[in-house]
Amino acid sequence: GVVAVIVPWNLPLLLLTWKVAPALACGNAVIVKPSEETPASATLLAEVMAAAGVPDGVFNLVHGFGPDSAGEFLTRHSGVDAITFTGESSTGSTIMRAAADGVRPVSFELGGKNAGLVFADADLDAAVAGSVRSSFTNGGQVCLCTERVYVQRPVFEEFTARLAERAAGLPFGWPADEATVNMPLISHQHRDKVLGYYDLARREGAQVLAGGGVPAFGDARDGGAYVQPTVFAGLGADARTNREEIFGPVVHVAPFDDEDEAFALANGTEYGLAAAVWTRDVGRAHRAGMRLDAGIVWVNTWFLRDLRTPFGGVKASGIGREGGVHSLGFYSELTNVCVDLT
Ligand code: NAD
Repeated sequence: GVVAVIVPWNLPLLLLTWKVAPALACGNAVIVKPSEETPASATLLAEVMAAAGVPDGVFNLVHGFGPDSAGEFLTRHSGVDAITFTGESSTGSTIMRAAADGVRPVSFELGGKNAGLVFADADLDAAVAGSVRSSFTNGGQVCLCTERVYVQRPVFEEFTARLAERAAGLPFGWPADEATVNMPLISHQHRDKVLGYYDLARREGAQVLAGGGVPAFGDARDGGAYVQPTVFAGLGADARTNREEIFGPVVHVAPFDDEDEAFALANGTEYGLAAAVWTRDVGRAHRAGMRLDAGIVWVNTWFLRDLRTPFGGVKASGIGREGGVHSLGFYSELTNVCVDLT
């Protein structure tokens, strides 16, 4: 049928291809609605599709905003047979209501408040380096980024000191320089949201171990939406800072004593997208896979993926799985043809 593909700004081309490729492979037509913040790469893909000879009407692209605009109109259109969406959980709820008319299926990749768990038996160098990557990659603007790290008490002080030191030392280059780690955020509006959470964390009583503000350059970069990579500590599991997705280069660290407590803390949000577990204990790694409420549990790594493996979240982080055969289930329908041969 006709599949509406609605995608966010943070990985604008990559996330779109995870939906468009299997949808087309299963014989559907797609209508893609990229984020209003990042229309360019999808436009380029449409031009490439046309140049490659994809027939008119198979890959369609519409630009516009979400509510009361192209996004919402697509989700309400009776000619759309299924909706695949990546974005915020609250937008997913809104789209689900629209999809209820006509009982159209949805596939959702939504927000996260992902936990990292560092056990005392872990390779601490790898855990520090991995946590720097998982918290600050792409300015923290990846749904899989770690915003909460729980550290077993014997290594808590050392891990936290090293993480804060690394965060404070991450270089601010120019965006076009490939060595740059700290890039500006997508927009000033998004920076206001992230800085609002930095203020909230302070009001909730957090200690600021690194960052917490806006860097000053004295050059043209001051016009960009930069924020400092930030490490907080000292807040309880109920603090909003530890429950709500911030989507910036920020992480809160807290200690735990044993495995049960670690898993309970990790599971203590409404989200369930990904987790990163740092341990040398294979049995514990398997228990983490079973007991963590997450669609993806990484062990001693982060953001490593074979595209054939299932990708998606539980609880408020999504519905369904993308990747390999798991995508085929959504983009095709099974028909049981039962013939009486007598
Ligand atoms: P968003 O929900 O604001 O917007 C995503 C898309 O939905 C945009 O194209 C937008 O125009 C459209 N939209 C907004 N309201 C709509 C409506 N009422 N009806 C139809 N379409 C509507 O999300 P965002 O801010 O662009 O992206 C960041 C969010 O995406 C974060 O929450 C992040 O965790 C999530 N995300 C999840 C994954 C995943 O795989 N789970 C991957 C990347 C991003």
